[in-house]
Amino acid sequence: MEREDIKSLTYEELQETVRRLGEKPFRAKQLYQWMHEKLADSFEEMTSLSKEFRTKLMEQAELTVLRPVDIRTSALDGTQKYLFELADGNVIESVLMKYRHGNSVCISSQVGCRMGCRFCASTIGGLTRNLRPSEMLEQVYRIQKLSGERVSNLVVMGTGEPLDNYENLLKFIRLLSDPNGLNISQRNMTVSTCGIVPNIRRLADEGLQITLALSLHASNQEKRKRLMPVANKYELADVLDACRYYFEKTGRRLTFEYSLVGGVNDTLQDVQELTALVKGMNCHINLIPVNPVKEREYVQPDRSVVMAFKNKLEKNGINVTIRREMGRDINGACGQLRRSYIEENR
Ligand code: SAH
Repeated sequence: MEREDIKSLTYEELQETVRRLGEKPFRAKQLYQWMHEKLADSFEEMTSLSKEFRTKLMEQAELTVLRPVDIRTSALDGTQKYLFELADGNVIESVLMKYRHGNSVCISSQVGCRMGCRFCASTIGGLTRNLRPSEMLEQVYRIQKLSGERVSNLVVMGTGEPLDNYENLLKFIRLLSDPNGLNISQRNMTVSTCGIVPNIRRLADEGLQITLALSLHASNQEKRKRLMPVANKYELADVLDACRYYFEKTGRRLTFEYSLVGGVNDTLQDVQELTALVKGMNCHINLIPVNPVKEREYVQPDRSVVMAFKNKLEKNGINVTIRREMGRDINGACGQLRRSYIEENR
């Protein structure tokens, strides 16, 4: 029988498991605390539980713990990239970024990705599998433990499409914001999606306070289709309607991510179309000069083009920032550390 992944359980579900193992209800609370508050990485460590109970857990339950296989620290800004190995041998990438307002962790939501965005390194090998709630939590837990830094912010912008792993993502968010766990405020969490319309609408109805970031990357449907295959399935107009719905239901300001690709989506005509698209929405545009990926031919526009793009948007009354590049010396583009590791170990 497969052992139960108890770190993925809600408190209510854990209570049920503890009862089934023949233990008193208050043990569930202790066990939950060991996992989600004290971030224990073994059952042995859980010394307030009886030896018998710990033995039972070792035999019948699985404590998901990620193993760091590589940690790189930027000499420029302290950004750290973590490469973690999962129990089945797959590896995933996570990032710790230190800002004045707190520490932010960027997690992966899947092993690989099946969305196929043309400029993205994470999708090159396709999707291997979804991450479980415990495996998403562990990226935050291990980073907080290993770095000794308190994590206050979360972005789901690593490898994977979070809304393609919907149920696990939701459980993860609820566990991470649980006052009996790390208690990270949902207002400090951002989930980025390539635009899976039905799941944006579903997310809007969950009663969460998280920020939704939409990967827009183009100012019209035709251009978007060339960069993002998911656009073949969902019309841009419908994606934006779903975003409006998200704002109506949650009151959370939307973020639009726009990767600037030299000669592809960086013209003043793009600025005008983009302005028309989002005008009147409570939103913020985050410009990301595209990270060159060695398997792809895309290039960053010149700095002057990036600045002109931003200035014109501002003149048009749109909130816009250029994403500060973190950890330039350890980076390569997103997902590249994992790819180079996989290639080296083949
Ligand atoms: N699947 C989610 C999360 C992906 S990564 C999504 O699509 O939003 C977070 C952001 O980085 C997305 O906006 C993604 O499009 C962008 N991105 C991916 N590869 C990039 C690259 N090489 N350069 C710039 N941005 C990139």
